[in-house]
Amino acid sequence: MNYYIYDNWQAADRLSPKIHKWNCGYCHMGFGMHTNANRGEHGVWIGPFDEIEYARNYFQLKFNGPLNECNCVHNH
Ligand SMILES: [Zn+2]
Repeated sequence: MNYYIYDNWQAADRLSPKIHKWNCGYCHMGFGMHTNANRGEHGVWIGPFDEIEYARNYFQLKFNGPLNECNCVHNH
Protein backbone atom coordinates (compact mmCIF):
# COMPACT_ATOMS: atom_id res chain seq x y z
CA MET A 1 0.00 0.00 0.00
CA ASN A 2 1.78 3.13 -1.22
CA TYR A 3 0.98 6.73 -0.50
CA TYR A 4 1.88 9.87 -2.40
CA ILE A 5 1.86 13.58 -1.70
CA TYR A 6 0.71 15.84 -4.50
CA ASP A 7 1.90 19.43 -4.39
CA ASN A 8 0.18 21.66 -6.93
CA TRP A 9 2.19 24.84 -6.97
CA GLN A 10 -0.10 26.57 -9.43
CA ALA A 11 -3.15 26.30 -7.20
CA ALA A 12 -4.30 29.73 -6.11
CA ASP A 13 -5.34 28.69 -2.64
CA ARG A 14 -2.13 26.86 -1.79
CA LEU A 15 -4.18 24.39 0.21
CA SER A 16 -3.28 21.75 -2.24
CA PRO A 17 -0.45 19.64 -0.88
CA LYS A 18 -2.38 16.53 -0.08
CA ILE A 19 -1.71 12.93 0.77
CA HIS A 20 -3.24 10.33 -1.53
CA LYS A 21 -3.33 6.57 -1.63
CA TRP A 22 -1.94 4.86 -4.68
CA ASN A 23 -5.35 3.83 -6.00
CA CYS A 24 -6.93 7.27 -5.77
CA GLY A 25 -8.45 8.70 -8.93
CA TYR A 26 -6.31 11.81 -8.53
CA CYS A 27 -3.22 9.70 -8.20
CA HIS A 28 -4.04 7.88 -11.41
CA MET A 29 -4.19 11.24 -13.13
CA GLY A 30 -0.82 11.96 -11.62
CA PHE A 31 0.65 8.79 -13.00
CA GLY A 32 -0.62 9.79 -16.40
CA MET A 33 1.08 13.14 -16.13
CA HIS A 34 4.28 11.42 -15.04
CA THR A 35 4.62 9.79 -18.43
CA ASN A 36 4.16 13.05 -20.32
CA ALA A 37 6.61 15.79 -21.15
CA ASN A 38 4.78 18.27 -18.95
CA ARG A 39 5.75 16.46 -15.80
CA GLY A 40 6.09 18.97 -13.00
CA GLU A 41 4.44 21.75 -14.95
CA HIS A 42 1.43 22.01 -12.68
CA GLY A 43 2.63 20.15 -9.66
CA VAL A 44 4.72 17.30 -8.43
CA TRP A 45 4.06 13.90 -6.98
CA ILE A 46 6.23 12.98 -4.03
CA GLY A 47 6.56 9.36 -3.13
CA PRO A 48 5.82 6.56 -2.91
CA PHE A 49 5.74 6.14 0.84
CA ASP A 50 5.32 2.60 2.10
CA GLU A 51 3.45 3.68 5.20
CA ILE A 52 0.99 6.51 5.79
CA GLU A 53 3.13 7.57 8.75
CA TYR A 54 6.09 8.19 6.44
CA ALA A 55 3.96 10.37 4.20
CA ARG A 56 2.60 12.28 7.19
CA ASN A 57 6.06 12.83 8.64
CA TYR A 58 7.38 14.06 5.30
CA PHE A 59 4.37 16.30 4.79
CA GLN A 60 4.77 18.01 8.13
CA LEU A 61 8.52 18.49 7.68
CA LYS A 62 8.24 19.72 4.10
CA PHE A 63 5.15 21.91 4.32
CA ASN A 64 5.32 22.78 8.00
CA GLY A 65 1.56 22.87 8.27
CA PRO A 66 -1.48 20.83 9.22
CA LEU A 67 -1.98 17.55 7.45
CA ASN A 68 -4.18 17.59 4.40
CA GLU A 69 -5.37 14.17 3.33
CA CYS A 70 -7.60 13.11 0.49
CA ASN A 71 -10.61 10.98 1.44
CA CYS A 72 -8.98 8.12 -0.42
CA VAL A 73 -6.49 7.71 2.43
CA HIS A 74 -9.32 6.67 4.71
CA ASN A 75 -11.24 4.52 2.26
CA HIS A 76 -10.47 0.85 2.06
ZN1 LIG B 1 -6.89 10.87 -3.22
